[in-house]
Formats: sequence, C-alpha cells, structure tokens
Amino acid sequence: RSKSAGRNCFTIYDEAMSAELEARNTLEGDLRDAIAQCQLEVHYQPFMDVASGGRRGFEALVRWRHPSRGLIPPDQFIGLAEETGLIVPLGEFVLRRACADAAAWPCDLMVAVNLSPIQFKEAELFETICAALADSGLAPQRLEIEITESVLLERGVENLAFMERLKHIGIELALDDFGTGYSSLSYLTTFPFDKIKIDKSFIRNLTHQPRSSAIIASIVTLARGLDMSVTAEGVETREEFERLTALGVNFAQGYLFGRPRPVDQIEFDAPVRASQRDAA
Ligand code: C2E
Ligand code: MG
Ligand code: MG
Ligand code: MG
Repeated sequence: RSKSAGRNCFTIYDEAMSAELEARNTLEGDLRDAIAQCQLEVHYQPFMDVASGGRRGFEALVRWRHPSRGLIPPDQFIGLAEETGLIVPLGEFVLRRACADAAAWPCDLMVAVNLSPIQFKEAELFETICAALADSGLAPQRLEIEITESVLLERGVENLAFMERLKHIGIELALDDFGTGYSSLSYLTTFPFDKIKIDKSFIRNLTHQPRSSAIIASIVTLARGLDMSVTAEGVETREEFERLTALGVNFAQGYLFGRPRPVDQIEFDAPVRASQRDAA
C-alpha cells in the first residue's frame, strides 16, 4: 500500500495512476526486449490494381508476438514506441524486413512501409532507407513509403526536402489515412505524393450513405487533377468494391482481398520456369 494513505483523498487517484504507470513501464521494458529478441513480425496485406484485377503490392504491418500475451496489434504499442523513442529501432526493423522479404518475392510487386512522424525527425532516416535498399537489393521503385498528415504539420520545409530526396531515387510516396485528422488540401499541392489512401471510415458507410460516395468522387477528381492515384482502404464487401470501381479509385485494399498474413503464407502464382517456357 501507498505510504501516502494519510493524504486520504489523493490515495485512490495515486494508486490508480501508479498502477497505470507500472503497467506502462512493464510494457516499455517488454517492448525493448521484443526488439532485441526479434519478437516483432511483419505481416503483409495485398492491395489490388482495380484496372487489371491483379495485386499491385503488399502493405507491411508490424505485429508483436508477445511471449505471454500472444499476437499484439500495432495500435496497442506504436503509440508507446513513439513516446519512448523505440519507434526508431522498431521502424528500422520493419523497413529492413520488408525490403528483404520483397526482394525475395518471385515477382515485381510493390511493398509499402508505414513511417512514423517521430522517424521523420531522425537525421539519418534517408541513409537508413538507402541502406535497407542496398542491403536487400530491392529496387527503390518497388518501395512505397506511407505517411500520415500529422507528419507534415511540423518542419514543413525539412520534410519537403526529405520527400523530394526519396522521390529522386525512385521511391513512391503515399498519404495515408486521408480524410482523418488534420487534412488540409494544401498538403496535396505542397508535398510530392504519388498516391492518396482514403481512410477506411469513408468506405464503411459507402453503400448506404450517398454523402460518402460524393466525398470519394471528389477525392478521385482532385487526385486526377494533381496526377496522383487513389487507394481505398478497408474494403470488406463486394458491393463496396463495385461502388469504388464505379467511382474510379485506382487501388483497393481490405479484408475482401485478404487480411495481413505472415510472409510465408502469401501465395504467389508459380513462376514460369525457363524449361517450361522453352518447351512450349
Ligand atoms: P494503416 O497504415 O492505415 O494500415 C491499415 C490498417 O487497416 C491495418 O491495421 C489493417 O490490418 C487494417 N485493415 C485492412 N483492411 C481492413 C478491412 O477491410 N477492415 C478493417 N476494419 N481493417 C482493415 P493494423 O495492422 O492493425 O495497423 C494499424 C495501424 O498501425 C496502421 O494503420 C499504421 O498506422 C500502424 N502501423 C502498422 N505497422 C506499422 C509500422 O511498421 N510502423 C508504423 N509507424 N506504424 C505502423
Ligand atoms: Mg498504412
Ligand atoms: Mg491507413
Ligand atoms: Mg492508420
């Protein structure tokens, strides 16, 4: 029990706070160990090219295989990783893993990696990305970096210069979760994005809310005018997909096409072997 029991009215509050702080410290220590002990895994979710009907690539999504708590989704530890700075080694791990995995795929599909705003503050981020590409042998044209609008709020000039450098070596840039948070249309003209990812909250109401359709239609028009493509996130039903196709989105991602999976569970069409091709 707390020694402050005499200071009655604050006691319960103190105890609740310290329990929370303790849980947080435990989780922080666990997360530190997780990075050192390779308990983090990268899963991959496909995104589809609407025009061809085939896959265009996969988004890399981190998971934590906790020794006692099982598989923990990123929403439960990315925030903590950002507060503690652990996002820097975590983010580098995901980037390196994703580049190495994609370099070994039997086809030229893209791999999309999420970067946290905190990583943007790291002076060596550009070198880290170049090293991940060089060490894996992945062509920069196959790497897409996803960033959320919150990144762009601070340090606009530095961020613009950084993004220009990424584009210059052939990396693609996607604006993630578009339509949530601090959306400002000026970001679209200021920063060199190739793609807008419409947040899944807009897709959810699509089939019963004409207003959502109107919003998506305007985003598609806007993106075309700016020479950017559009991905719809969180597509779960055939009806949603049909509606989105009619609205002109370029890419679609969601449970309808596949959940995020470990790399060894991704199916690739059997590559045509040279001997088979020669025989034909
Ligand atoms: P995000 O980048 O917007 O990723 C898409 C999220 O939507 C993923 O959640 C994915 O599993 C989920 N999703 C995909 N299709 C559907 C669907 O049809 N319905 C629904 N309801 N959800 C769908 P996940 O994997 O839990 O990741 C959550 C967020 O955590 C990501 O959102 C991203 O912001 C962050 N995150 C994940 N991995 C990383 C990482 O390596 N680094 C950083 N900085 N953030 C990451
Ligand atoms: Mg993303
Ligand atoms: Mg998103
Ligand atoms: Mg998100």
